[in-house]
Amino acid sequence: MSDCIFCKIVQKEIPSEIVYEDQELMAFKDIQPLAPVHIVIIPKVHLRSVNDITPENEPLVGRLFGVVRRLAEEFEVNESGYRVVSNMGTDGGQIVGHLHFHLLGGQALNARIG
Ligand code: IMP
Repeated sequence: MSDCIFCKIVQKEIPSEIVYEDQELMAFKDIQPLAPVHIVIIPKVHLRSVNDITPENEPLVGRLFGVVRRLAEEFEVNESGYRVVSNMGTDGGQIVGHLHFHLLGGQALNARIG
């Protein structure tokens, strides 16, 4: 998608601090971190949100969670704990319309969601 900021990150048209990349997935540091560890993990293909996950791309999303687990180890939050969040739509607070998961950790996070 030509006007999608995360597609532009995938295409390296705008810079980002990439911490993981393979043919189908990418992870980069959030530009406005909400916690000491704040990484955004995306499929490279443009899916708009969790609502776009279909049986065909479920294996990709499953693999994405494997990357989340490995990044949690790499950034040393796997023992202390972390949160994985995907905002969807207006009420979910989604700003960027490209499916993504936030990996947040490195401090005690507020137990309340919402
Ligand atoms: P959400 O759509 O509300 O889940 O949040 C989108 C996230 O993308 C926010 O946490 C932003 O700080 C982050 N973000 C937006 N643009 C960039 C960028 O260019 N690089 C890294 N993170 C970004």
